[in-house]
Amino acid sequence: MKIIILLFTLMLSANLCLSQIIDVHLHSYTDDIYYGGVPHPAGNIPSPPNAEAHLERTIKLMDSLHIDYAVISNSIKANEIWMEADDRFIPGYAANTEMIPIDEFDELIKNGKIKVFGEIGAVYEGITLANPIYKPYLDVCNKYGIPVMYHTGPPDPGSKNKAKRVFKGDPALIEDIIATYPDLRVCLQHAGASFWENAVLLMAYYPNVYADLGVLLWVSPLTQEMAVDFLKSCKKYGVLSKVMFGSDQMVWPDAIKISINYFNSLDFLTEKEKRMILYENASKFLGLNDE
Ligand SMILES: [Zn+2]
Repeated sequence: MKIIILLFTLMLSANLCLSQIIDVHLHSYTDDIYYGGVPHPAGNIPSPPNAEAHLERTIKLMDSLHIDYAVISNSIKANEIWMEADDRFIPGYAANTEMIPIDEFDELIKNGKIKVFGEIGAVYEGITLANPIYKPYLDVCNKYGIPVMYHTGPPDPGSKNKAKRVFKGDPALIEDIIATYPDLRVCLQHAGASFWENAVLLMAYYPNVYADLGVLLWVSPLTQEMAVDFLKSCKKYGVLSKVMFGSDQMVWPDAIKISINYFNSLDFLTEKEKRMILYENASKFLGLNDE
């Protein structure tokens, strides 16, 4: 009997350790936009040969890692394929400067095909979210309560776009947007990266500002250090309730697992704080409980 009780207790505690997760930063692909097949130099992370294998691997990892929901973004078509394959995906409309007409945007929101505006990669075009081209889209998001996810920090150095600018990635540059739309939930993706101090300040000052850990947890030792500094500062400022887990797996799905493992290894965060970041904060940001 004692052994049975012991086994039962062990099973129960093992279950409690397997916390549920929301990954707010994934990317969906179709073959025409897929650029995988080559391992990522950070730890030789494998990349599936095509978009279908990539989707399969992502779903498998979501099953084994207990990921309940994931926000995906890229083309509308890629999102459609992914949503057909698995109902845990939440569609985000990715945009740089080329966007669908505003009426179509409004319609897709009404049809549930857009639930998040982003990832918005304005920095790749050398502009910020404060540029007037985004205003009509932000107005629509504000009208329907659609959260906005905005790339902060420098653009990917590998991008060949000559328009990209490092300092346009500073979240301080979008303060006017944050202040103009106090009810619009805005996520500073990648937590500002090199500009993480400004991300923390905006989160502490404005109730509508959140951040995700984006690519920081896996892409290099330098970004991992930024994640640690950012999280410690969030703890000091009392804003851990606005930090969300995201992996930004791109064409390397196993980065999701690496990110979770790295995050769980951070011993300055309590189990409760980890649960908030891995699940509860995102649930609030995405309005999952309102549905
Ligand atoms: Zn991303």
